[in-house]
Amino acid sequence: MKLPETIKIGFQIWRIEIDDLSREDDRRGVTFKEKQLIKLDPTLPEESKKITLWHEIKHAIAEFLGIDGDRKYDEEEWITRMSGMEITVLDENKELREFLWGSGEEKNLEQNGG
Ligand SMILES: [Zn+2]
Repeated sequence: MKLPETIKIGFQIWRIEIDDLSREDDRRGVTFKEKQLIKLDPTLPEESKKITLWHEIKHAIAEFLGIDGDRKYDEEEWITRMSGMEITVLDENKELREFLWGSGEEKNLEQNGG
């Protein structure tokens, strides 16, 4: 499934790019908050790309909500703050849903060839 070029997070549009991240401490993905840009390493396997993209989107959501940074949150508080916006982001980004889950058709438990 095709990687979305942009993701809508609230009123913000974030760009998604594939780029060599070997200079960034060998990370799989990076969120550039001031640029509203997420970069993913091109060498990641497809499943890792999905998980890494969602990981970086959660950083972007935290930034959007103003709960990013070093402050530690209580588990219940963190989940409560994040949940509504995560649902909104999934709701408003069809290409993201398709990238993460395919067409959205129910998956068989048995191996499906893709
Ligand atoms: Zn992270």
